[in-house]
Parts: sequence; structure tokens; C-alpha cells
Amino acid sequence: MLRDFVGPLVLLVLTPPSVIILWEACRYLDGSLRRLATLDGWAAVKAGVPSPSWSAAAVLLGFLLWEALLLRLLPGRLHRGPVTPDGARPEYRLNGVRAWLVTHAAFLGASYGLGWFSPGILYERFGELLITMCLGCLALCGLLYAKGRLRPSAADAGSGRNVVMDYFWGVELHPSVLGVDLKQLFNCRFGMMGWSLLVVSFAAYQHERLGHLTNALAVSVALQLVYILKFFVWERGYFSTLDMMHDRFGYYLCWGVTTWLPGVYTIAAQYLTAHPRQIPSWAAWTLLAVGLAAIGINYDADRQRQRTRDSGGTAMIWGRPAQVIQARYATGDGQSRQSLLLVSGWWGVARHFHYLPEMVLALAWSLPAGFGHLLPYVYPIFLGVLLVDRAGRDDRRCQDKYGAYWNEYRRRVRWRVVPRVY
Ligand code: NDP
Repeated sequence: MLRDFVGPLVLLVLTPPSVIILWEACRYLDGSLRRLATLDGWAAVKAGVPSPSWSAAAVLLGFLLWEALLLRLLPGRLHRGPVTPDGARPEYRLNGVRAWLVTHAAFLGASYGLGWFSPGILYERFGELLITMCLGCLALCGLLYAKGRLRPSAADAGSGRNVVMDYFWGVELHPSVLGVDLKQLFNCRFGMMGWSLLVVSFAAYQHERLGHLTNALAVSVALQLVYILKFFVWERGYFSTLDMMHDRFGYYLCWGVTTWLPGVYTIAAQYLTAHPRQIPSWAAWTLLAVGLAAIGINYDADRQRQRTRDSGGTAMIWGRPAQVIQARYATGDGQSRQSLLLVSGWWGVARHFHYLPEMVLALAWSLPAGFGHLLPYVYPIFLGVLLVDRAGRDDRRCQDKYGAYWNEYRRRVRWRVVPRVY
């Protein structure tokens, strides 16, 4: 009841206003969450609620169509994703890095080159875009629910336990429209690409305003851009993650990547744009180095799993042949299949060790904001909760899927995320 109804309902009610209030706290309350507890703070929040607009809706829809076209038209190999629980293999086009380059070239060319709009426009009109996206996506999730119930794209659509859960969690695992996989389009090409454009525009706004970029914002934006670019380099690996393999496409994923992600993941950059600050050079370089190392380790862990499975277990991990468990499991079509569980490398340190560098990175791009306010740390705090929940959820799912093989992995790799801690 708690996980299947009350929890989703509470999140559905609380998360949309939260994302707007966080933006307002950054813009109108000087970044102070404490002022939300005061009468004048609430008055400022009430007065500052941004209005949705048709022009923002047109921009967002145009961006979605642009990314859908790039996904369909840019050259890139077709990749067959992992087997779904029903034994199907969804197809994805691998052209993420090209799409990133073309999208950014178009944005910078149209703003700096042709002067069609100010490069800082996404910062200037962020509130309007965010609330329009938020409301539009609430409606979109209703359409996804109806599509899943009435015209599912594949057999692995399934109703959960109740309407709230179906709306929140989604009905379809791999919905598609006109041959475009909606999860790839929204998660990768709209959410991640939009995030990248946002932080570029925030930096451009500050540069226009001050005539220079503060080193604090430069570090935060640089780390986010490297992380996002790494995501597109590794996009094939993303198709083997929980989001793509197991989570259905409803509010949790769709609203999450289109509204929560731009609103919350960029919060440190929003704060640093509104509150420019310089930090000592040694601190800037240290945070940059720590953040880049964290991206490298996270990428390496994801790659180790991918290389091990691609090679059928013959890959070398840290200079030695990969140690694996040959796990068997059954799919919904009744077939018995085999998969490899890596027991060495980062996957031998802890079962989700790669979540640790993910957390360190989130701190590295938030710390330039200093310690004056909690607001810039909302993303790392959220991420900590998300990843702890996710590690537990994944353990339970793998336990169901692999049974005794998962027990064997847990026996050999005792810790979930951080050895001797958790
Ligand atoms: P994982 O990359 O941890 O993938 C989990 C899946 O990997 C399991 O369901 C299982 O799938 C397989 N697996 C588990 N153990 C092993 C093993 N020992 N060897 C081989 N395969 C194994 O999940 P996430 O989707 O959570 O993370 C993907 C990436 O995204 C990470 O880099 C993570 O840090 C990042 N991330 C970022 C978030 C953010 O908001 N910033 C949020 C969540 C993740 P199978 O059924 O195929 O066996």
C-alpha cells in the first residue's frame, strides 16, 4: 500500500510545486530555503509563480521535434537493446554525440552567429519554460497512460495495481510513436540534451551580464557538460540500465527527465548564475580534478560491465581475466536464458560501487556554491536518497530474476555501495 499507492500519490502532489518553488527560492529569496518558512518569503513565492505560455510550449515542442528528427536522420548504427522480460529486443539508433554537436552548434550559431535570440535566453525565461514543461508533461503522462491501456506498442505493457500507480510508474516498458522509441527520445535526447543547453545558456547569461564567467560557475558547468557528453559517448550502455530495461515510462521517468531533471539537477548552476562568486583557484582546480576523476571512475565501472557482457566474459578487467558468475534466468516467454554477473573490477568492490563517484561528482559541481545556503545541495541530497533506494530496488529485482545466482554474488560481494559502510 505504501509503495504502491500512498508513496506515488504523495510524490505526484508534492514534486510539481517543489520544482517551481526551488526555482523561485533561487530567483526571489536570494537562494534561502529558510525564508520559505516566513510570511514574506511565502508572499514572494506566491507573487513570483511563473506563468505558462504558448510561446514556451512552442519552443519545447519545437525542441522535441528537432531532437526526434536528429535521432531519426543523423547517421548512426542501429543497436538492439537487452532482451525484455517478454523476450523482445528493442532497437535504438546510436547517434547521440552527433546530435549533441549539431544541437549545440545550432543553438550557439542561431544566438551568437545570427543574433536570433540572446544566448542567455534559457536562463532569462527558465521559470516560464519550467512551468510550461511541468504542466504539459502532466498531460503527456495521461496520454501515455491511455496509450498503454488502449494501444500498447508491444506485448510487455502491463497494468500495475491501481490508476495512481499506473500513471506514476507507467504502463508500457518500451512505448514508441512512428518508430521512435519514446524513452530514448525523452530521456536521452530531450532531458539530457536540454540539461546541456540550459547550463550553456546559464554560463552565456552570466558572461553577457558581467563581461566574464566566474570560476565557480565555470567549474560547475564544465563538470556537468563533461558528464553529459560522457553520457552520449556511453549512450549504448544506458540501454542496459534500470531506466531503460526495467522502469516503465510514466510520470516517474517522463516527468522526471523533462521537468525534475532540468529544475533540480541544474540547481547549483542556477544559484551560481543568480549569485556570481569567485572561489580560490586551488579550490576550483581541486573540484574540477575530483569531479573529472569521479566521471572517469563511474564511466569505467559502466564500461567494465558492458565489455564483460559483450565479450561473453572473456574481457580483461584491471589486467586480469574477468571473474564472472554464469547466471540463468527465465523470461516471460518461458525461455531459459543466460547472463553474466561480473564479480571483479568495480563490481567486485561493491554491488553498486559506481553510485559513489556519481555522488562525489554531484558534490563537486555543487561545492563551488559555498556553504551560505542549502539550496545548491538539493541535487546531491536528492541523488543520495534516489541511489540508496535504487540500490535496494535493484537488489530485490535481481534477487527475483537470478535467485540462487544472485545469492552467490551477494556472498562474494558483500557491500551494496560503499565497502564496510553500506
Ligand atoms: P546499474 O548500472 O547498476 O545497472 C543495474 C543492472 O545491471 C542490474 O539490474 C542488472 O541487470 C545488472 N547487473 C547488476 N549487477 C551486475 C554485475 N555484477 N555484473 C553485470 N551486470 C550486473 O543501474 P543504474 O541504471 O542505476 O545506473 C546506470 C548509470 O546511471 C550509473 O552510472 C549510475 O551512476 C547512473 N545513474 C545516474 C542517476 C542520476 O540521476 N544522476 C540515477 C541513477 C543512475 P540485468 O538484469 O541485465 O542483469
